[in-house]
Amino acid sequence: MTDGTIGKIWLVRYGEIALKSPPVRKTWEAKLISNIQMVLPRSDSRREHGRIWLSGEVDPAMLARVFGIVSFSPCWTCDLKELKDTLLQYIAESFSAKKATFGLRIRRIGHHQFTSQECATQLGSAVLQCYPDFSVNLTNPDILIMIEIRENRCYLFYQIFPGVGGIPLGVEGALVVLLSGGIDSAVAAWLMMKRGCRIIPVFIDMTPLLGESARDRIHAVLDVLRRYQPDIDFHIIEDRYVAQIQETLRTSHDKKYVCLLCKRRMYRLAEKVARNLGAKGIVTGESMGQVASQTLDNLAVLHEATTMPVYRPLIGLDKTEIIDLARRIGTYEPSILSSNCCGAVPQKPATKADPGKIRKLEDRLASVIGYDM
Ligand code: ATP
Ligand code: MG
Repeated sequence: MTDGTIGKIWLVRYGEIALKSPPVRKTWEAKLISNIQMVLPRSDSRREHGRIWLSGEVDPAMLARVFGIVSFSPCWTCDLKELKDTLLQYIAESFSAKKATFGLRIRRIGHHQFTSQECATQLGSAVLQCYPDFSVNLTNPDILIMIEIRENRCYLFYQIFPGVGGIPLGVEGALVVLLSGGIDSAVAAWLMMKRGCRIIPVFIDMTPLLGESARDRIHAVLDVLRRYQPDIDFHIIEDRYVAQIQETLRTSHDKKYVCLLCKRRMYRLAEKVARNLGAKGIVTGESMGQVASQTLDNLAVLHEATTMPVYRPLIGLDKTEIIDLARRIGTYEPSILSSNCCGAVPQKPATKADPGKIRKLEDRLASVIGYDM
């Protein structure tokens, strides 16, 4: 970390953490720093009220994916007595324009012999002396330089890169995500990650209904999600239940319930993983009114299959909104890689199921095909 000399450093700003009570804030700040360190192991970090300063090797693309960061800026830093010379050198190295309007925005923390206004006036005239073709414009300048003065230390920057926002990954614990490889569940996973939940993705491979391409697709989606949570622990469960019930119900009126039975099975498998690993609930990519099973009646029937909380962060989003998010996250392209459609989906899936009937059907099927639900 630079001290007493001119140096380069990154200013990291966080949002919601600052609103927390002191003990929560301390834990969340520590989590944010350890998450930064995980993706930028060659950086050094220092925490200061409402800010994190990073030095060493910092890749802005990695920083842009750390949840909890609102924005960040590459800065020059110097001692107060070096501020004027550093500012002139900073302008010379950062901007090529010989004729431009400029503005200085000063923010001061601590006790100083001058006001921010006096400091801006003094520095501004030094810039005009050095660059006679520059002129001051405080409302919409070509060059706007922000200077933070913290006691005896100064930080200069002109770029503010947006962060991903949210709260630090992991502060809320872990959730199992039913991840299909399609567009929706990847976005659902990301939204819960953004709100502090580590994810444990579970893919149910309904052998032999889903083929190799479904696995390729899920791995491509996971590669993107790992940019946000590098140590994702992924689980694939091969399951023959759906293939067997499809076969059993082939000529029955009840074949319209196959999707519901399949999803209830998935919820139960997800619950087992969640209980084994201490996760606090299940996430799905279901959204109101979407294909096959996503009606109010059906979602109630699905929820009944588990005693764990089920989170559906996409429930109120339109498909176009989900796709926009998927593009922003980076999962859209891998999610649309071609993949075998599930061969068990009936022509007319039930949209209004009765929970009592589904329970009885499950009991009957369990005794026919010998399953422990
Ligand atoms: P997605 O785009 O996530 O595939 P979808 O709108 O296509 O969702 P469905 O295929 O009905 O909807 O699946 C609803 C949800 O069930 C998915 O969002 C996902 O959470 C879960 N799901 C579906 N298939 C699988 C699977 N093979 N493994 C794990 N979870 C799955
Ligand atoms: Mg799908």
